Amino acid sequence: METGTPVFFEEYWEPAQAWVEIRAYPNEDGLSVYFHDVTARHLNEAAIRESEQRLRDVIEMTPAGYLLTDSQANILDVNPALCEIVGYTEEELTGKNMAMLTPSCPFDGALLIQNGVSAVHAKEAVIKRKDGTDAHILLNANIKRDGEGNAVALTSFITDITVRKQTERRLELLATHDTLTGLPNRALLNERLQHLLETDGQREPIAVMFVDLDRFKEVNDSLGHVPGDELLCEVAKRLKDKVRPTDIVARLGGDEFVIAAPCSKGPYSATRIAENLFKAFNDPIEVCNQEVFARASIGIAMYPQDGNTKEALFQNADAAMYSAKAAGRNGYRFFQPEMSEQARVRMTLESSLHRALERDEFVLLYQPRIDLKTMTISGMEALIRWNHPQLGRISPLDFIPIAEERGFIDAIGKWVLETACLDSSRLIKKLGCPLRVSVNLSARQVASHVLVEQVDRALKQADLKPELLELELTESALIENVQVSTSVFNELKKLGVLLAVDDFGTGYSGLGYLGRFPLDILKLDRSFVNPDVSGNNSERVVKAFIEMAHALDLSVVAEGIETEAMSTTLRDMGCDEGQGYYFARPITLQELEALIPKFCTC
Ligand code: C2E
Ligand code: MG
Ligand code: MG
Repeated sequence: METGTPVFFEEYWEPAQAWVEIRAYPNEDGLSVYFHDVTARHLNEAAIRESEQRLRDVIEMTPAGYLLTDSQANILDVNPALCEIVGYTEEELTGKNMAMLTPSCPFDGALLIQNGVSAVHAKEAVIKRKDGTDAHILLNANIKRDGEGNAVALTSFITDITVRKQTERRLELLATHDTLTGLPNRALLNERLQHLLETDGQREPIAVMFVDLDRFKEVNDSLGHVPGDELLCEVAKRLKDKVRPTDIVARLGGDEFVIAAPCSKGPYSATRIAENLFKAFNDPIEVCNQEVFARASIGIAMYPQDGNTKEALFQNADAAMYSAKAAGRNGYRFFQPEMSEQARVRMTLESSLHRALERDEFVLLYQPRIDLKTMTISGMEALIRWNHPQLGRISPLDFIPIAEERGFIDAIGKWVLETACLDSSRLIKKLGCPLRVSVNLSARQVASHVLVEQVDRALKQADLKPELLELELTESALIENVQVSTSVFNELKKLGVLLAVDDFGTGYSGLGYLGRFPLDILKLDRSFVNPDVSGNNSERVVKAFIEMAHALDLSVVAEGIETEAMSTTLRDMGCDEGQGYYFARPITLQELEALIPKFCTC
C-alpha cells in the first residue's frame, strides 16, 4: 500500500448486518480508518436494480414492440416483440436509424422528435418489415426532453394491428364492393357519383350509363351459374378496360352495370364512350370451354340536362336502357323525355304481369297461313295478346321481354302451348281440316329444361298429332346458344313436332349455319321480304334464299304479305307459304273458324 494514497472499500459487515464504507488513510502515525454506514444506499441501489430488472422483464415479455432511440432517432434498444413485428433481429436494429423502418411514411421518429411534441397517443402508422411488406401499427411514444426542451430520447410502444386493419378493409370492401366482380356496388356508386356531380359536374357534363346484358338469364339458365358468374367477371373486366381509370364502373347486381364518366363534349363524348364499351363485346368470352358472345343494351342520361340528382339520372338512364332493349337490343339510346312515360307503363306492366295468368287476361289470336300454290289455308300462327284491365290490349313485343326477365315466361309459354293445342285440336275435329298450328317460343323457354315435357304434355292433353304442331324460334335466339338449342331441338324432333326459324333475315346467320339445326321451316322476316319496309328491293336475295332453303330441305314461309302483288311475286319465286295482312290479320278463334271455309278445300 503506498503512503498517502487513501483506500476505500465497502464491505458487508455480517455481525451488524450492515454495509459499511471503510476509508483508510495512511498517515505518519499509521492508518486512519473511518467507518461509514452505507446500508441505506446499498438497499436503494439494490431496489433500483431490482426495479430495472423487473422493467426489463416486462419489456421483454410484453406483446407490444418496444423501441428506444436517441435524439437523432438512432435505435438504442428494442424488445423481442418489436423484432417479431418488423422481422429484423435485435442486432440488425440496434445502432441503425429508425428511418429504416419508416422509409416513406409519416411515422418518422426524427420528425416526431423535432416537432417538439412530448407524447404520441394511439397514432396509426405503417412501417416496412424486413421482407418489404407493410405492417400497420398503433404507436404510443414518449419523447424525453432536457430542461431546455431538447429531445433526449424517444421511447415507443408499438402494437401490430395489421390483422385488424385487414379485417376492417375486408369488411369495408364487402360493404362497398360487389363480391363477384370486385367492382363498386350500389352504395359506393351512390357515394362516388354524388362526389363526381359535386366536383367535375360543376365544370362539364357527366354521362350516367346503364349497361344491361342482353339475354343473360338464358346463358345463366342454360350453362349454369358458375359459367354465368365467369361471364359477368369477364364483362366487368372488359368494361373497366374500356373507360378511363377515373371513370366509375359499378355493378348493381345481376347483369346490370353502371358507368359514370365526365364528358367534356357532352353527348358527343358519351357516344364515343358507348361505342367503345360495345367493343368490349366484340370478342367471344370463353366460359367452361365454350365461346359465348355477350351483348348489351346501354341507356344514357346526361347530367345536368336529363337530371340534376343521381336518383333522376339513374331512373332516366334505366328508362333509356329499356328503350334500347325494345329497339332490338345490342345498341344504345340517349334518354328522351317520352321514355319516362314508357318506363311508367313498363312498371305498371311489370307489377301486374304476375297476376295476369290467374286473372285470365291473356288471349290467343290466330293468323292464317296460306299455301301460296293452292291458295288454301295450311295452318295458323298463335299470337298472344294481354288484355290489361287498365291499359287495354298489350302487344307481346311489350310484355314478352318483361315476362322473360321476371321469370314468368315458362308459365306463360305453357299456357300458350296448351291453349293453342286445345284450340286447334277442336278446330281440326270440327272442320275436318288437318291445319297446323305454330307457336312462338322465347329463347328463355328453349333454355329451360321443362320445355320438352311441356310440349309433350300439351300434345297429349289436346290429343293433337305432333306433326300438326310447329314451334318457332327466332334466328337470333337460335344462334345465341347453339349447343343448348341443338340439343333441345333434337329432343323436340323426337316428339315428332315441326321446327321453324322465325324472323329469318333479321339476324346475322347464314343458311349454312342453320343447317346445324334439325329445322323444317324457314320464315322470312317481313322486313326482308317487304321492299316497303326494308327500303331496298331485295327480290334477288329473297329468291336466292328460297332456293338455298329448298336445297336444305326447308319449307319457306314469307311473313308480312300485305298485297296481292307480293303474294304473286313470292309464289313465283317458289315460296311455299305466306302469312300477312293481305290474307288476314291475327284474329280470334271464332273469326278464324268463320274464315276457314273461304280458304279451305276440305
Ligand atoms: P312473329 O312471330 O314474327 O309474328 C308475326 C308478327 O307480325 C305478328 O305481330 C303479326 O301480327 C305481325 N304481322 C303479320 N302479318 C303482318 C303484315 O302483313 N304486316 C305487318 N305490319 N305485320 C304483320 P305480333 O302479334 O305483334 O307479334 C309480335 C311478335 O311477338 C311475334 O313475332 C313473336 O315473336 C312474339 N310473340 C307473339 N306471340 C307470342 C307468344 O305466344 N310467345 C312468344 N314467346 N312470343 C310471341
Ligand atoms: Mg312467329
Ligand atoms: Mg316473325
